[in-house]
Amino acid sequence: MTSSPSIVCPRCSSNAAKLRAKSPVDDAWIVFGCDVCFYTWRSTEATENTDPNKYPRVFRLDPTEIAKLPGVPNIPPLRRPS
Ligand SMILES: [Zn+2]
Repeated sequence: MTSSPSIVCPRCSSNAAKLRAKSPVDDAWIVFGCDVCFYTWRSTEATENTDPNKYPRVFRLDPTEIAKLPGVPNIPPLRRPS
């Protein structure tokens, strides 16, 4: 088994991104995902979504800051009609 080359995440610039899926037909697309910030992108997207050097600076994440980000609030229980 060969290891795949490291893929740099456009959003957090970590080397923790991996190939997740490939098109079953003619290599039409590839889906990548990052294990650090969970960003996911397709090879067919615009370079501003796939190239770490072109990803919009305002949306970039610093991997050392991710643990400090506020958590997502829990979904409250469903209200049942009384
Ligand atoms: Zn990432």
